[in-house]
Amino acid sequence: MIPATVTSHDRDSLRDALVAMGEKAFRADQILRHVYRRCATSYDEMTDLGAALREKLKVAVPVMATGEPEENRSKDGTAKLLVPCADGQPVECVLIPEPPGKSPPERRTVCVSTQAGCPVGCVFCASGLAGLARNLTAAEIVEQAVRVGRFVRSRWDAMDHPISNVVFMGMGEPFYNLDRVLAAIERLNADWGMGIGLNRITVSTVGVEGGVMKLAAHPLAPNLALSLHAPNDEIRARVVPFAKALPVADLLAEGVRYQQKTGREVTCEYVMLGGVNAGAEHARELAKRLSGKGLKVNLIPYNAVEGLAYLPPRPKDVAEFSRILEAAGIPAPVRRARGDRIAAACGQLRLRKVKEGHGAPA
Ligand code: SAH
Ligand code: SF4
Repeated sequence: MIPATVTSHDRDSLRDALVAMGEKAFRADQILRHVYRRCATSYDEMTDLGAALREKLKVAVPVMATGEPEENRSKDGTAKLLVPCADGQPVECVLIPEPPGKSPPERRTVCVSTQAGCPVGCVFCASGLAGLARNLTAAEIVEQAVRVGRFVRSRWDAMDHPISNVVFMGMGEPFYNLDRVLAAIERLNADWGMGIGLNRITVSTVGVEGGVMKLAAHPLAPNLALSLHAPNDEIRARVVPFAKALPVADLLAEGVRYQQKTGREVTCEYVMLGGVNAGAEHARELAKRLSGKGLKVNLIPYNAVEGLAYLPPRPKDVAEFSRILEAAGIPAPVRRARGDRIAAACGQLRLRKVKEGHGAPA
C-alpha cells in the first residue's frame, strides 16, 4: 500500500503522524509551509529539515501522490498541465493568468479537475466523451493547485501566494465527489494551506439533487457556478442529457437560496452552441427567467472539440445575446476563449492522451 502523502493530511493528522514517528509536531507546520506556499514537491527542497529526517520522511510520508506534469503553454499565457496519477490516470488543470500579457499577472487562477473523466456527458464537453474513470482523491485535487503554483513561481517571482483564485471547472462533476472536494477546499483555504479566501474559490456544478444546499450548509461554502446552458428544460435536456440533472427552475431556486444563505457569489454558466441555444429568442427567455434573481451570467462561446459536430456561435449572435440580458439588468459578460491552441476546453487533452493509449482506459 502507498503510504499517506503530505497532501492527503490536514494539519492535525500530519502532526499526529509525525509525533507517532517520534518527531516534533512543529515539523508538520514547516512541511506544510514548504508544500502550500513554496510549492515544494520533494523533501530535497526542504533544507531546514535535517538530511536524516528527510530520508526518513520520504519513505514514511511521501510529499506528493501525483507525478511530474506535462506542460502545454499557449501564446496568450494560459498553461495546461497534464498531471499523471499513480495509477496512470491523466488529470488536467489549467493556469489562467490575468490580465493577459501582464507580468507578473495580478490574478493567477487555477482551474482544477475533480474526477478522471465525467459521468454527466454534456454534449459539448470532451470530459464526458469517454465517461467516468474514477473520483480523484483530495490529494490529487489539491496537488493540481500546488503543481500550477510551482509553474507560476518558476515563471514569475517566488511569490508567497502563487495562486490567487481557484475554480473547480475542470474535468468532472464536483458534487459527485463532494467530500473530497471539501477536503481539498480546506487545504486551499486554511492558513496552514494555500491561504486562498473562500470568496476566491468557485465550485461549478450541473446541479445534483441535494448538492447545492448541502454545500450551503458547510462552513467552507465557496462561490458557486451553475452550469445552466439553456433557458428551458427542453433545450437543457438536449445539452445536459444526464437524467439526474435538476430542472432549470429548481436549479435557479437553489442558486438564489445559496446566495441568501452564504452571501457568496452565484453565477450561471452558459456555453453557447450555434443553432442550439444561442438565438435572440433564447436570450429573451433566459432574461425573463432570471429577472429579479440577482444572478449573473457568464457567456462561453463553444470551443470546437474533435469528434463533436457542434458549431461555435456567430460573434454577432454572442454580442446580441449579451446585449439582451444586460438590457434586462442581468450582467452577462462574454468569457474570452483562451488557450484554444492547447485544447484548453476541459477534458480535451486527457481525451487525446487516453485515445493515444498513454492513460489508463476510461
Ligand atoms: N462539471 C462541472 C464543472 C465544470 S465543467 C460543470 O459542468 O459545471 C467544465 C466547464 O468547461 C463547462 O461548464 C464549460 O463552461 C466549459 N467547457 C467544457 N467544454 C467546453 C467547450 N467545448 N467549449 C467551451 N466551454 C467548455
Ligand atoms: Fe461533466 Fe461538466 Fe463536462 Fe458536463 S461540462 S460533461 S458536467 S465536466
